[in-house]
Amino acid sequence: MTRMDVVQSNKNRANDYVHEVYELVKKRNPDEKEFLQATREIFDSLRPVFSQHPHFIEHGILERITEPERIITFRVAWEDDQGKVRVNRGYRVQFNSDLGPYKGGIRFHPSVNSSIMKFLAFEQIFKNALTGQPIGGGKGGSDFDPKGKSEREIMRFTQSFATELSRHIGPDRDVPAGDIGVGKREIGYMFGMYNRLRGGYEAGVFTGKDPEHGGSLGRKEATGYGTVYFVEEMLKEKGLSFKGSTVIVSGSGNVSTYAIEKAMQLGAKVVACSDSGGYIYDKDGINLETLKQLKEVENKRIWEYTKFHPHAEYHEDCSGIWSVPCDIALPCATQNELDEIAAHTLVANSVKAIGEGANMPCTLEAIHLFQEHGVLFAPAKAANAGGVAVSAMEMSQNSMRLSWSTEEVDERLKGIMKNIYTSCMDAADRYGRPGDLVMGANIAGFLKVANAMVSHGIG
Ligand code: GLU
Repeated sequence: MTRMDVVQSNKNRANDYVHEVYELVKKRNPDEKEFLQATREIFDSLRPVFSQHPHFIEHGILERITEPERIITFRVAWEDDQGKVRVNRGYRVQFNSDLGPYKGGIRFHPSVNSSIMKFLAFEQIFKNALTGQPIGGGKGGSDFDPKGKSEREIMRFTQSFATELSRHIGPDRDVPAGDIGVGKREIGYMFGMYNRLRGGYEAGVFTGKDPEHGGSLGRKEATGYGTVYFVEEMLKEKGLSFKGSTVIVSGSGNVSTYAIEKAMQLGAKVVACSDSGGYIYDKDGINLETLKQLKEVENKRIWEYTKFHPHAEYHEDCSGIWSVPCDIALPCATQNELDEIAAHTLVANSVKAIGEGANMPCTLEAIHLFQEHGVLFAPAKAANAGGVAVSAMEMSQNSMRLSWSTEEVDERLKGIMKNIYTSCMDAADRYGRPGDLVMGANIAGFLKVANAMVSHGIG
């Protein structure tokens, strides 16, 4: 066989392998739409890796990496304010621990199910690997809906959830943090319950704690700031920047609020943001103080923004936000919030760059469309890794029993986001798709985990 024949036969073998394992994953997880979407995206990127490194095929890396090490589901019973017994379902997906203890947030949202938990935990494996820190991938949550619940109901539910979760976690085993519906208040309740059950104080078992009580400074801002740092790197390469750009950011939670803040600090005008009820458009630029007061302090709906800024517009249907003309769009709300139709509208309005602050906010069709039209695209795994990166810093600080200043955390965060950008670009280059950050992120993250899996042996 000539060298060309060997290359071609490795290519064919890699394609067959990826195809066969994907069929297997589909068969084993037939109704898990989001999980299959996340695996499809990774698989599509990995063909050149298997053709260049066929030993990964011998080690069955794809079959192993797509099967969680452990999935825990449990009953969460609690009593509401009327004394009625309520039952929700709790989850913890411990997906991969080859690089470190399972690490990933807890989500409280009515949409939570096994597919959503698994896709989030799967994505987390590669995201965490990209940070270069020693953390594995996991995710947890419940279909509990915090909306409309009293403070006491939230505490009772969260404590009941933590009672079961506590048997499965620990500072060297599995370290949860927040996600949608879980912030420092809920982390505080879970941390309190864990310590009561253990009869001690194990600071590093949760991250995203209140900075007054063992948390890291800069953690709240980290995901949003990190997304903007990453997108700024991507823009720089093309001689662009946030300065003077018009930006839209979906969502109005932690990720969005601090993406807006950082984009503004870098000189952008952010004209729209949203919540699940609708979106606001403020042609003069969103007033961040009003947004924080409404969302962080008063826990209000976003339409109330127009009470303070009557010139701003409120539109029902949050997906309408993608029709607002902009240079840069940052989807920071939730999975699959930006579909092909929205992508068409953004492209027609000459969008230049997309940065995913949420987890998997763009559908596969939307991503393809952006790439076809030369829109710069920063994928979630890389672009939103800043949150978990600062979580890993919180683990380090807890172990050392000291705390770093906001400036120190921010400097490290910037460095990590830059490194992630460089390793994604390098991987894309090396595997034949220069500038494709989706492929670069998937490959760079995958290689770290796959090499560790090979070195740890099978079984
Ligand atoms: N939930 C966040 C994420 O999606 C943070 C996870 C963490 O800090 O462990 O990455």
